[in-house]
Amino acid sequence: MSRPATNDPAANLWTHTAPPAPVCPRLEEDLTADVVVIGAGFTGLSTALHLREAGANVIVLEAEEPGFGASGRNNGQVIPAYVRHNPDDVERLFGEERGKRLNDWVADSADLVFSLIAKHSIQCEAAQNGWLQPAHRPSRMKGVIAKQSQWAARGAPARLLDKEEMEALTGSPAYHGGWLHERGGHIQPLGYARGLADAALAAGAKIHGQSPVTALDRADGKWRAKTPRGSVSADAVVLATNAYTTSLWPRLRQSIVPLRSFHAATAPMSDNVAKTVLPNNHGLSDTRQALWAFRKDQGNRIIMTAAPMIPFGVHGKIERASKAKVAAAFPQASGIEISHIWEGFIAMNVERMPRLHELAGGVYAGLGYSGRGIALATSMGAALAKRAMGAGPDDVPPPPVPVKTLPMHDIVAPMSRAMIGYYSWKDTKD
Ligand SMILES: Cc1cc2nc3c(=O)[nH]c(=O)nc-3n(C[C@H](O)[C@H](O)[C@H](O)COP(=O)(O)OP(=O)(O)OC[C@H]3O[C@@H](n4cnc5c(N)ncnc54)[C@H](O)[C@@H]3O)c2cc1C
Repeated sequence: MSRPATNDPAANLWTHTAPPAPVCPRLEEDLTADVVVIGAGFTGLSTALHLREAGANVIVLEAEEPGFGASGRNNGQVIPAYVRHNPDDVERLFGEERGKRLNDWVADSADLVFSLIAKHSIQCEAAQNGWLQPAHRPSRMKGVIAKQSQWAARGAPARLLDKEEMEALTGSPAYHGGWLHERGGHIQPLGYARGLADAALAAGAKIHGQSPVTALDRADGKWRAKTPRGSVSADAVVLATNAYTTSLWPRLRQSIVPLRSFHAATAPMSDNVAKTVLPNNHGLSDTRQALWAFRKDQGNRIIMTAAPMIPFGVHGKIERASKAKVAAAFPQASGIEISHIWEGFIAMNVERMPRLHELAGGVYAGLGYSGRGIALATSMGAALAKRAMGAGPDDVPPPPVPVKTLPMHDIVAPMSRAMIGYYSWKDTKD
C-alpha cells in the first residue's frame, strides 16, 4: 500500500476524524492588539482564549493552521503529572511554597482541559476515564509506587494496582501492576485544538493562519510581529511555538531539542476484540523511557507511539514494529493492519519540565513539555495570559526560569534520536 509521507497532514488519522478547521485568513494588513500570540497549538490557543475572557484584545499568528504542530498530531493522552519528576522532587527543587504551587498547578491541569471542553462544547471524543501507567518490568514498580503515593498524599485520586487489576483494566497480560490517575483521560487532539480555536474566535480573538512571523522588533514603544504580508503591534508577545520554534528568538530555539516522533493507528478492531482492549477506555503510557503508549479512538482503532531510531524507510519499519507491539501488549488483536503512520515534533528539555520564560519586558514563552503537553500546555496558556496581562512572577505558577541554551545545539539536536536506542536498551535492563 502506498502511504502519504509521514509529515503530510493526510497521513495523520486525526485529520480524517476531526471536525472541520476554522476559517483563519492570512494576515494582509498592519494591526494593533494588546497581545500578539505566535503559534496556534494548545499553548497559543489557550493563551488567546484566556486573554479574551479577561477582556484583552488578542491576535494569534500561525504559520500554517490551528493544530498544525504537535497539538494536532499527538496520542491525545491527558496526563496531570510530570514526565520524570515526582512532587517531592519539585518541592525540593523549587522550595516548599513554590514547589507546592507548581504541584497543584500540574494536578489541576487535566481538569482544566475537560472543563474547557465541556464549557465550549468542543467535539473531540473527550473521555476523562483515567490514565494508566503500567510497569513493564517488576523492577519499575518501585518508581510507580513513589509516583502514586506522592500524588495521592497531595489529594490526587491516584490508585496503586496489582498485576490482576492492571490486566483487568488494560486487557493486557504484559504488565506487572502500576497506577491509575483517575483525573487523566484522552481526547482527539486535532479536534481539541480546532475547538479551542473556535472558542477563542467566538470570544472575539483574531486568528490568522498561513502567517508565519518572520521578525519581532520594537517600534513606537510596542512589539511588532512581522509576517510576509502584514504586521501586528502589541504591548505584549507570547511565543507559543514549542518544538516548531524557529530562529525568530534564537536562544529559545537552542533551549530545546525537537525530537521527531512517530505515531501509528491500526485499522478498526471488531467489536468483540475492541471490548477486551482497554475495556474501560483508559489511556495507557507504560514505564518504558522509549515510550509505549496506547489508547483507543471512537472508531475502535488502537493509536500508539512508534519510535524507530533511524528515520529512513519508516513506513516498513513502523508497520512491523507496531504489529509486534500490538501482539506483545494485546495478543487478542494480533495481526491487525496498521492503517495510518504519521509524525510530529516533541520539544524535549534536560529536566523534562515545562518552562515559562520572560524573554524581555513584555515577551513571554511557554514550552518544553517533553511529550506531556496536552494538560500542561493548556494550563501554561492560562498562566501566560495572566502574565501578559501584568501578573507578577509570584502571582501565577509556573515560576519563570532563565533560558538555558544547550551547548553545541546544532550538533546535539540532530543526534537526539540516538537516545531512543539507549533508552530502549535501558528499558530491558532496569
Ligand atoms: C507524536 C506525538 C505524541 C504526543 N503525545 C502526547 C500525549 O499523548 N499526551 C501529551 O500530553 N502530550 C503529547 N505530546 C506532546 C504535545 O502534543 C505537545 O506538548 C503540545 O501539543 C504542545 O503544544 P504547543 O501549542 O506548545 O505547540 P504546537 O502544537 O507544536 O504548536 C506550535 C505552533 O507554532 C507554529 N509556529 C512555529 N513558528 C511560528 C512562527 N514563526 N510564526 C507563526 N507560527 C509559528 C507552528 O506552526 C505550530 O502550529 C505528543 C507530541 C507528539 C509530537
